[in-house]
Amino acid sequence: MTNIRYSIVAPCYNEEGNLHELHRRITEVMDRTNEPWELVLINDGSRDRTRELMQELHARDQRVHYIDFARNFGHQLAVTAGMDYAQGEAIILIDADLQDPPELILEMIQKWKEGYKVVYAIRSERKGETWFKLFTAKLFYRLIYRITDVNIPLDTGDFRLMDRQVIDTMKQMRERHRFIRGMTSWVGFAQTGVYYVRQERFAGETSYPLRKMLKFASDAITGFSYLPLQLATYLGFIVAALSGLGMLAVIIARLYGNQAFFGQATTLVMVLFLGGIQLICLGIIGEYLGRIYDEVKARPLYVVNQAVGFEKTPEMPEKVRV
Ligand code: UDP
Ligand code: MG
Repeated sequence: MTNIRYSIVAPCYNEEGNLHELHRRITEVMDRTNEPWELVLINDGSRDRTRELMQELHARDQRVHYIDFARNFGHQLAVTAGMDYAQGEAIILIDADLQDPPELILEMIQKWKEGYKVVYAIRSERKGETWFKLFTAKLFYRLIYRITDVNIPLDTGDFRLMDRQVIDTMKQMRERHRFIRGMTSWVGFAQTGVYYVRQERFAGETSYPLRKMLKFASDAITGFSYLPLQLATYLGFIVAALSGLGMLAVIIARLYGNQAFFGQATTLVMVLFLGGIQLICLGIIGEYLGRIYDEVKARPLYVVNQAVGFEKTPEMPEKVRV
């Protein structure tokens, strides 16, 4: 058993401009705890010098450990690998671009020592982001909150501290389309939050364009809610009720000799309308079906090219084949 107390896990995709500063700030903060810690960096298939910088940092400071992915697997899987390899008793997820201030970690540790198993960081304000990102993020958090079965706290990102017990539970959840904040809420245990102001990126650019945000949102929704699937049933009832009323109206109109509702236009509009609804419902089923297919294939979640500095490679729970 290692005696590492804290693991700071930071996924990195093209973060060459941030790594040195990240290491400097983390060291400054973590040395104040006077307890052993490690910094776990994951290179998520970066196309810049991120990997070389990780090697450099590791050579200079043995507390820096890193995992090099064989290609880009995406933020959530990079974080997953970090959680699999991290050796500490408490694990802190943080973005590598310094949008999450490392100083907050001390506050999180304080809460952890009080007995909380999950301490998430709530963004009370976000700096340096476009109104579009702010608006979509706000909408996203509220939508997720309303339609999912687990209570995912509003305005929290992945910046959080998790106890070893929580990590060990989450390690058994090997689903492919991951929404880590939902998964941590699902696990339970004593959870609490601390507030912070989300900063601007230190260097580089966001790698979450609209396309990735939409995929992220659909993973979150399909992973934690059946509501879209039930939509077909609701729509079916609504349309059936409406057409019942429509039929009544037509019968009454005809009895009184009204010539309304003749002609093809009405029929055409109705057929197109129903066709549209059916296609949407099929599409929704397709979304879930595709994800089920991915799970059935049971491929590894990520492929590691090299893991440096860890005492042992983690044992993964056997995935049950369906
Ligand atoms: N990231 C990653 N793989 C990706 C995209 C992003 O590991 O494919 C990392 C990135 O290096 C950063 C974190 O995930 O540490 C958050 O990404 P980003 O800052 O681009 O997102 P934003 O903060 O704009 O939501
Ligand atoms: Mg960022």
